Amino acid sequence: MKATCWHGTGDVRVDDVPEPQLLKPTDALVRMTKAGICGSDLHFLNNGEDLEMVPGTRVGHEFVGVVEAVGADVRGPRVGDRVVAPFVFSDGTCFYCRRGLHSSCEHGGIFGTPFWGPHAGGEIEGGQSEFIRVPEADGTLVVIPESLADGTRDLDVLPLGDVFSTGYHGVVNARVRPGDTVAILGDGAVGICAVQAATLFGAATIIHVGHHDDRLAVGTSSGATHVINAKREDAVEAIQNLTHGRGADAVVETISNNDSLTRALTAVRDGGAVSVLGMSHFFGPVDQPYSATFMRNISIHPGVCPSRAYMDSLMHLLEAGKIRPGVVFTHDLPLTDAARGYTMMDRREEGSIKVAVST
Ligand SMILES: [Zn+2]
Repeated sequence: MKATCWHGTGDVRVDDVPEPQLLKPTDALVRMTKAGICGSDLHFLNNGEDLEMVPGTRVGHEFVGVVEAVGADVRGPRVGDRVVAPFVFSDGTCFYCRRGLHSSCEHGGIFGTPFWGPHAGGEIEGGQSEFIRVPEADGTLVVIPESLADGTRDLDVLPLGDVFSTGYHGVVNARVRPGDTVAILGDGAVGICAVQAATLFGAATIIHVGHHDDRLAVGTSSGATHVINAKREDAVEAIQNLTHGRGADAVVETISNNDSLTRALTAVRDGGAVSVLGMSHFFGPVDQPYSATFMRNISIHPGVCPSRAYMDSLMHLLEAGKIRPGVVFTHDLPLTDAARGYTMMDRREEGSIKVAVST
């Protein structure tokens, strides 16, 4: 079968590899129909050595597909069901899963990253492949409801497993309440999804900050009341001008390099909250003036998204037409063109925001 594999910095290829098999009675096999290329995949592409990635690793952690086979102990998903997976697989029953923190599952791991988590060094399948072995299938897979399961809505369902739920998580962690002013920093797919999520929590003013007018236009159509192109104006000053000089009640920060974190902590009002979703802090030093945040009573909440905890609710919102996650996809390529998809996203070619690959 075809699978997208990492071979070194800047080197992702679609290889012929053996099909995965059921290894445990709790496994399922899924035939991928659509998979996403994530901003974090670009971090792996460009910084894989720092993360101790092993050449040949099957990559990708966002996918929708059809169940091909299930192990003897799998009770939920049945063969033929159309399913979506969160980027973290999880058993759904352990101490952390029962508390909604599926990203810390005691038997979990991240698809496409066999170098992380309790399965480090093991065989964890990547999502940008024709077939994927899904561990802990009962806890992990979400069966797509009939109204969304004819295959035409895969691009709307796919983001629930990572990019949309991550944007939603950022809004939850920033404690957005009805009537609030929320600033979303970053005009990538997560930022756009955070804008949509902020509308669900009743934010009165949603300020979307980015560097690209075309992406900010998607922010506007997703519910942003104001957009700031930080190439043309000072974002913090613009946010303060919109908030009587005080700053936003909540800031959702999706980039997380030093500059962006500084901007977030400066753009929030005293007593406000900043949630941190981006991964750039993995790859460079972060130096933040925490003592300044002490005097201003700012809450800072970084954290990876426990997507599985949100996916059932998000699926209901999608069925009800309250969210439009699919707007983040600008391109849908054949799986065999996955390497081109990575390059397009990395270089932001052809107006790309997010690229899907299909079988
Ligand atoms: Zn668990």
